[in-house]
Amino acid sequence: MSTIELRHVRKSFAGNIVAVENVDLFVDEGEFVVLLGPSGCGKTTTLRMIAGFEKPSSGQILFGGRDVTHTPTRQREVGMVFQNYALFPNMTVAENIAFGLKQRKISSKAIADRVNEMLSLAQLADRRDQYPAELSGGQQQRVALVRALAISPRLLLMDEPLGALDLKLREMLQIELKQLQRKLGITTVLVTHDQQEAMSLADRIVVMQEGRMRQLGSPEELYNKPNSRFVAEFVGKNNVLSGIVKNAGKDELSIQIGEGDSACDVVAVQAKTDSWKAGDQIALGLRPEHLYVAPPGEEVQSSNCLPGKVSERRFLGNFVHYHVELPWKQMVIIECPTRLSQYEPGSDIVVHFKRQDCQPLAASSVVDA
Ligand code: ATP
Repeated sequence: MSTIELRHVRKSFAGNIVAVENVDLFVDEGEFVVLLGPSGCGKTTTLRMIAGFEKPSSGQILFGGRDVTHTPTRQREVGMVFQNYALFPNMTVAENIAFGLKQRKISSKAIADRVNEMLSLAQLADRRDQYPAELSGGQQQRVALVRALAISPRLLLMDEPLGALDLKLREMLQIELKQLQRKLGITTVLVTHDQQEAMSLADRIVVMQEGRMRQLGSPEELYNKPNSRFVAEFVGKNNVLSGIVKNAGKDELSIQIGEGDSACDVVAVQAKTDSWKAGDQIALGLRPEHLYVAPPGEEVQSSNCLPGKVSERRFLGNFVHYHVELPWKQMVIIECPTRLSQYEPGSDIVVHFKRQDCQPLAASSVVDA
């Protein structure tokens, strides 16, 4: 069984730096889990502990239910891919792929067969005798990937494997990587700070902040139901408005946002598990595609309306992004299909949104855990 389990894993370094704090995670067989978070949040340290390059200060790591906390890296049977490819420059593509196999004392016929198989998987059969420097970045990265896969690892660990590539190539390789992982059914953990990459690759994402897991869920869950202001702002674009709960009903919250004369009352749907009460500080997440624009005075379907002024209009092909200033000087971004976009900078408008599209969040961006 190729599962990975982290139990209460903690890692501190000299000088009282706590890189990872109390991480509990179960990665199922064949699952693709992405560790996502800003620089320094502990992603790489977590991956290095799974690989065996670092020992946890406390806690356990299990593969297939077996405790490997103290098992050396080379006995863990993991394939690894890093950002800088780490191909051997003086070896050909085929020699690079064969490297790990040769260390395992497999017959030369079996090695040759496996190398051919990996070359065709990477679609690089015609490049077998070339050196890394003669390949493009994307080709080198594909060699690094199949080199990791050549030893038939039970687990694949990747740290920013596509980070050095330009955007187009990265997106192309994301698709290839996902297809390959699904086809091989290999349990995979990948580290990235790029939320779009995480969303396009992962079955589930672990969002980390300051060494802790903040939320674990599918890309859709994190996008639609972030559990904190931090996750709401880190995963996908979001407009976060601060407010105060005026009234907390069973299913709905009445919230005052803005200040003084410009304060507005809006209504948000609250989840059954939420327990807001009147007087609580709250933040409301509103995705750009959930905000709509209307001319002042026009009747709109929602009672959630805020006055605003268009300060910028960015054309993005199918969509425009309006940057709209609310009366209390806060900017929000609104995504609008280009064919419906009729407002120029300086226009007074009304921003409206549905109560079910509001994401009620704890006001602070750091969660106390
Ligand atoms: P990045 O995206 O920048 O690589 P990360 O989320 O992967 O960041 P880590 O590399 O895991 O973060 O680092 C987490 C924290 O642990 C940071 O504060 C870092 O400085 C610290 N750290 C990591 N490795 C060591 C080490 N060997 N010695 C001391 N501190 C370390």
